[in-house]
Amino acid sequence: MTDSAPRDFIRQIIHDDLESGKHAGIVTRFPPEPNGYLHIGHVMSICLNFGVADETGGRTYLRFDDTNPGREDEEYVRAIKDDVRWLGFDWADRLTHASDYFGRLYEAAETLIGLGLAYVDSLSADEIREFRGTLTEPGKDSPFRDRSVDENLALFRRMRAGEFGDGELVLRAKIDMASPNINLRDPALYRIRHVTHQTTGDAWCIYPMYDFAHTLSDAFEGITHSLCTLEFEDHRPLYNWFLDVLQPPHRPRQIEFSRLNLAYTITSKRKLNALVTEKIVSGWDDPRMPTIAGMRRRGYPPTALRDFVRRAGVTKKDKLIEMGMLENCVREALGDPAPRRMAVLRPLRVVLTNYPEGQVETVQAANHPNDPSMGMRDVPFSRELWIEQDDFMEDAPRKFFRLKPGGEVRLRAAYIIRCDEVVKDADGNVTELRCTYDADTRSGEGGSDRKVKGTIHWVSAAHAIDAEVRLYDRLFNVANPNTADDFHEALNPASLECVAAKLEPALADAEAGVAVQFERLGYFCPDSGDDAPGARVFNRIVTLRDSWAKLEKQELAGQG
Ligand code: ATP
Ligand code: MG
Repeated sequence: MTDSAPRDFIRQIIHDDLESGKHAGIVTRFPPEPNGYLHIGHVMSICLNFGVADETGGRTYLRFDDTNPGREDEEYVRAIKDDVRWLGFDWADRLTHASDYFGRLYEAAETLIGLGLAYVDSLSADEIREFRGTLTEPGKDSPFRDRSVDENLALFRRMRAGEFGDGELVLRAKIDMASPNINLRDPALYRIRHVTHQTTGDAWCIYPMYDFAHTLSDAFEGITHSLCTLEFEDHRPLYNWFLDVLQPPHRPRQIEFSRLNLAYTITSKRKLNALVTEKIVSGWDDPRMPTIAGMRRRGYPPTALRDFVRRAGVTKKDKLIEMGMLENCVREALGDPAPRRMAVLRPLRVVLTNYPEGQVETVQAANHPNDPSMGMRDVPFSRELWIEQDDFMEDAPRKFFRLKPGGEVRLRAAYIIRCDEVVKDADGNVTELRCTYDADTRSGEGGSDRKVKGTIHWVSAAHAIDAEVRLYDRLFNVANPNTADDFHEALNPASLECVAAKLEPALADAEAGVAVQFERLGYFCPDSGDDAPGARVFNRIVTLRDSWAKLEKQELAGQG
């Protein structure tokens, strides 16, 4: 599967490496840590890694970076696999874990010790931090830095054998405590943690650190291009140091690109996790979440997400992308396939006083205005109907072309009606409109070709299906909640509104996750979640128009 992607700087490098014969084939990896669900930022990394391999006939590994036992969970592993597959990518038999390499990583650590390039340090974590120096001051050598190879080997083996407690000793690379790059100031390679690991159980009580495990896993798998986000730029010298001193048969090249940030959204797993555990959202797949699981449940099609990251592009510049751009991709992806249906979200009763009681007729409505091949459907019409409350206005301005007292409007696929009388309750709220229909004006029939300016949607009251419709809005109401001191303060209190809606009968067989357009309202799909068992629930995927566009542009511009 490929969506032809423009040639960004990474694709250019890959192209050149193939052309020059540096590599016969491309091998990439997507290396998530299974400590949360994947989000829109990961979509970018997935599409890039799997995309460049697909485009060049290469291969991609899905590798779980599971070097942090305790924080990681099988549930996340399952979810990540589901999400990558749903996006349309296939790792075939290349599903790996950093933990698959624990044995080889351990050997590599012993090799470094043998080369005099790693040592066991007895400083405490606090002391190590103190000795590390700062951005402006060099660090200081640990007094244990000059232990002999034999002593280091013996201590490291005893660490592995479980003779020490957590944090008592640490294996460090011996590089340069005065390096201007803090990552090169004798970084830790292995630490002691007496924790059961989700795949290796209690086989290990020492675990490799990320930089070491990641670099060597890339090398073991023959990764040609190790694509990561910009925060790893300062780690590249360390990445290359490991390759220089260990000389593995394959030498991967690390290339960094900028993270994808989406306005009105957070893409930190830690904060997303907080939203879930604090029950601010219903779960990782809450349709307001920027997670793949949330966006899928909401009804975003995978093609829209792939299209979105392609448009966002791969660059080295930091960017905050408008939510409107993602929503436009969703609209574009749904416009053609989604059949049209009628649904009333905030119902107002209309009684057609000149329509015989008990009579029902069937009108035909097009399933798609631009695609006759999608056919027509039957819609029941009767004396009592539901229309949208805001399609009626009592004191309407001249330019209001929907229903007003004494005014006329066309009911989609049916008749022109006139509003004769407005019924109100004791508080003055409009509860019912008494109207008359013009029997001569049925849509698609030869009758009168009388025209009125407005057309509205409706549902026959006797035939309507009741449903809860969930209207989602931005989860945050500031453009960049990532930079808020406390993201809680940036939450949009109105991000979810549930309404009791009336649906036309054809919606009875709508399938979970499959989008339909509610005419004039937006794209919707039946919810696939399980927080309202037995209830008929629809999610609003996206509105038909972008009501945020202007505001969002202003706010993002204001950010400079
Ligand atoms: P955390 O939020 O815990 O720091 P992470 O976002 O780095 O984690 P990982 O599971 O380590 O999550 O990410 C897997 C891959 O996805 C990494 O290669 C990472 O660079 C990439 N990635 C993560 N976030 C983004 C983002 N916003 N844009 C592009 N790529 C991303
Ligand atoms: Mg990470």
